[in-house]
Amino acid sequence: MDPSSAAEEQQVGERGEPPGREDSLRPRCLADYIGQSELKQVLGIAVAATRSRGEPLDHVLLHGPPGLGKTTMALVLAEELGVRCRITSAPALERPRDIIGLLVNLQAHEVLFIDEIHRLNRVAEELLYPAMEDYRIDLTVGKGTTARTRSLPIVPFTLVGATTRAGALSWPLRDRFGLIQRLEFYELDDLRAIVERAAGLLRLQLDSEAALEVARRCRGTPRIANRLLRRVRDVASVRGHERIGAELVEAALTLHRVDGRGLDASDRRLLTLMLEGYGGGPVGLETLAAGLGEDSTTLETVIEPFLLQQGLLQRTPRGRLVTAAGRAHLGWPAQLVA
Ligand code: ADP
Repeated sequence: MDPSSAAEEQQVGERGEPPGREDSLRPRCLADYIGQSELKQVLGIAVAATRSRGEPLDHVLLHGPPGLGKTTMALVLAEELGVRCRITSAPALERPRDIIGLLVNLQAHEVLFIDEIHRLNRVAEELLYPAMEDYRIDLTVGKGTTARTRSLPIVPFTLVGATTRAGALSWPLRDRFGLIQRLEFYELDDLRAIVERAAGLLRLQLDSEAALEVARRCRGTPRIANRLLRRVRDVASVRGHERIGAELVEAALTLHRVDGRGLDASDRRLLTLMLEGYGGGPVGLETLAAGLGEDSTTLETVIEPFLLQQGLLQRTPRGRLVTAAGRAHLGWPAQLVA
């Protein structure tokens, strides 16, 4: 990532669309943000309360798998608070001056969104502590025995941090967030509503059965729902279909190797490796990552969470295990218990 483009920058997750694409489909306010009812309720109350007191919103940490709406929620919060949202990502804040530059340029009560916040380096993290707690930056001036600390006041602001790995966040940083919320995979009804909303914005004529089919196959994730919808749109326009029905969705998504339950080629490769190479497990994460040529963090944060949530995979102290449902989904016979 180019560090110079730190502020007001859109991020792309591992399974994301190119920057810019996502913007057109993002809900702008809480009322348009579908699903995640607990999250909306908690944040809605916090926004209303702080607005009535004329204070900045407390710092918010959002965690959960990629594509579930963390960036979107940061933008929604800024919209609801009537302020601007500056978007950046931890890898873009390598040098102290990157984060100092962002903090001193904030306007009162603005939202600063830092994606992948678990990847902040120690210097950046330590600069953030007094900024979050007391709205000040502590700068070290001079070197060696003549070094002194100077405090620079900054305006009150709200930090919204997002992470796919809440466990990798340091405790001192985690403790400084007043609101910590987990985003969950979406329910089928919510996903259908998300697909129908996106179809409307893309001016597609999508049957309700077709919307349901996309919803079933998107791994509980709005970003994937939007991406699948665009692939369906491609097939519909090449084949000259005005209306999109469930059969067309099925044909288009089969072409892209997305199966009836939403598993894609990477998911099936993981389960197949476990079944063929390790009798279904238990097998360690690093072994699997090496076997697949994937990075273990991607495996743990992008691929595994949905398979775990669907009950196709299980995490045990001795490693990962394919469940009976996982075997059945891949057409493997049930394991005989000795
Ligand atoms: P994350 O930051 O968690 O990786 P994003 O906020 O970038 O995910 O969301 C990805 C896309 O999914 C957004 O561009 C938006 O179109 C869509 N999306 C996310 N959450 C919702 C939601 N609750 N309702 C409707 N669309 C959503």
